[in-house]
Amino acid sequence: PLQLSSVQPAPPDAILGLTESFLADPRSDKMNLTVGVYKDDSGITPIMRAVKQAEQILIEGEKTKGYLPIDGMADYRNAVRDMVFDGKVPNERAAVVQAPGGTGALRVSAEFLADQFARPRVFLPTPTWANHGAIMNAAGLEAVSYRYLSADKTSLDLPGMLDDLSANARPGDVILLHACCHNPSGVDPDAQQWEQIAARITELKLFPLIDFAYQGFGDGLAEDSVGLHTMLRHVPECLVCSSFSKNFGLYSERTGAVVMMAADQAAASASVSQIKRLVRCNYSNPPRHGASIVATILGDEALRRTWKSELMEMRQRIHRLRESFVKGMQEVAPDRDYSFLLSQKGMFSFSGLSPMQVDQLRSEHGIYLVGSGRINVAGMAEDRIDWLCEKVAAVL
Ligand code: PLP
Repeated sequence: PLQLSSVQPAPPDAILGLTESFLADPRSDKMNLTVGVYKDDSGITPIMRAVKQAEQILIEGEKTKGYLPIDGMADYRNAVRDMVFDGKVPNERAAVVQAPGGTGALRVSAEFLADQFARPRVFLPTPTWANHGAIMNAAGLEAVSYRYLSADKTSLDLPGMLDDLSANARPGDVILLHACCHNPSGVDPDAQQWEQIAARITELKLFPLIDFAYQGFGDGLAEDSVGLHTMLRHVPECLVCSSFSKNFGLYSERTGAVVMMAADQAAASASVSQIKRLVRCNYSNPPRHGASIVATILGDEALRRTWKSELMEMRQRIHRLRESFVKGMQEVAPDRDYSFLLSQKGMFSFSGLSPMQVDQLRSEHGIYLVGSGRINVAGMAEDRIDWLCEKVAAVL
């Protein structure tokens, strides 16, 4: 018989466990470079001004809390399609299903792929976001890895990536790609490398599943779409999983989308009907609030401008922090070269620190990194970069 008393505890989430230790750490000069959320200079994950203004509009104008359609709000779906595809896909071949965050979009996509395509395998980059493998496995897809980074973890191993795909992938396999701001490395292909990747994927007849969790966190909304738009020119069909957790700061509102490019209108509508069937027996229909905020902002010229400039401020802050850190390290450890951090995109990079050095930074100085040495650049305080560099140099 089923007995809850025989249930063994699951291992704790490695990154969230570190946050707990950070919170419990009594040192007042501690610094948290672990979790994947944006922080401003006061160490807070702020609510964007455009979001507050949109919420004000919603509070006054919202008429119902009735259920949304299974695939979400029409205004939201159209706004997301335009933001992600930017007119590059004819509307009749495009479809959007609102989803609870990027994670929800990935899970819905994976279930759909597992359900429809005789359980294909999914190729994941090594390394990748820690949750990717678990999501794919939970949906019933077998995960296979492909090389992504060079040995020193600071640049792309394009030949390794293409060789692994050619050697191991079969037509109909899924390949997961990070559209921009690769988590955890910050290493993105450049435009020309994207062309080669897209050509190989087309030649091998793989199905792209593109994780777009950081649009606007790298170089800009359009600039960060270069890889995706390259893919759209090459492949007949693909799924994109968008998240608005980071670029709208709507983490807890769970707002994302499955954005589809199908071969034709019939394929798009049949696929959406199958996705709706899967959503119906999962969470039934998506939450309203976060999607209403995104639709309100994207649908209003002035709010959209405010939001874009706030997103630019976040992006510029991350760039500035990268520059200050590289400069600071040059002063305290001139024999080491950290300039690779300047060409990496988004919040994350590998610092090159070993697990032992990471331990030492935590125990001796209250600086928290995940064991792989990944740093969340946005967690650095601008006025404490010199202090941080000094401590990092001390453990090198
Ligand atoms: N994909 C990647 C690469 C991420 O880093 C994250 C969040 O950290 C997600 C997806 C999921 O985002 P969300 O919080 O919207 O579920």
